[in-house]
Amino acid sequence: MAAPPRILILDNDETTGSYHLLFYIETFLNFAEQLGHPIDYNKTIQTLAAFCLETNILRPGIQRFIREVARLKRSRRIDKIVIYTNQLNVAEEGFTYSTPLIISDILSYLADDPHFIDILITRDRSAFAPEIRGYVIKDIVRPFSMLYPGKQPDFSKTLFIDDRAFIPYAGDTSSTNTSAKSFIPIKPYKNKLPYTSVVELCLTLMNVNNMTDTEELEGILTLINREWILVNEEYSPLNDDPSHLDDITKKLKQFYSRVSNVSAAAGGNHPQRHQTRQNQQQTGIEITVRQTKRRRYSSSKT
Ligand SMILES: [Mg+2]
Repeated sequence: MAAPPRILILDNDETTGSYHLLFYIETFLNFAEQLGHPIDYNKTIQTLAAFCLETNILRPGIQRFIREVARLKRSRRIDKIVIYTNQLNVAEEGFTYSTPLIISDILSYLADDPHFIDILITRDRSAFAPEIRGYVIKDIVRPFSMLYPGKQPDFSKTLFIDDRAFIPYAGDTSSTNTSAKSFIPIKPYKNKLPYTSVVELCLTLMNVNNMTDTEELEGILTLINREWILVNEEYSPLNDDPSHLDDITKKLKQFYSRVSNVSAAAGGNHPQRHQTRQNQQQTGIEITVRQTKRRRYSSSKT
């Protein structure tokens, strides 16, 4: 490889958002679908993106962060963007809706680029996963070998943003060119949500107005809502400094300008054609569902 690739690796939980509600939404959507209620995937992503911004499930400042990262990718100062999370991907077990996929697609939606996230790496349930203080270690080599099979890992131009930086990537770093500069420490973000009816949100996602349309789901909805309220109680109200993510954005911009040998203040040019939201609306395509990732989500299900 001529030059080390410039990769951005993002954690999910406590880094880009406080996502505990989404696990309940995921459960509901999968139940609903199994009971024969068709739910539009792209519409779900759009509705959830708006909801997550409004309720600060997504970290304050996330739109500015995503906009900047998208700009760096368009101007080719970032080659690949990876989500690396310890969340489990239930889509791998045959379900349609999965929290890490939903988060990945929400971020791509906010970036206005269906290919914003290049790969999503989730916890491998089957693999032996060593832990540190109960936290599953993320194998530092995995993202590189997935993106560049057969190549010697080189993270000298890679940035990891994770609220548990270094500890979760404590795999063998001896030949990967990682250093303290590879990690930007970010304060963990956890947010107790204002009371929001999960039932109401689920019905909105199903595009129905009341429970009578979803009689067989009533029990599931009630159960999910009750459990959700209990879990939400364990969190504290939002106390995040909204400028924290802006500081991270600044550091990230400086990092990729440095490794690209350009001035951070120079701004990005836009050599690649970029599909704007306006164009997407004109073509009626809001999120492009990638075949490789979503083959089971195609409209003609078999
Ligand atoms: Mg985390």
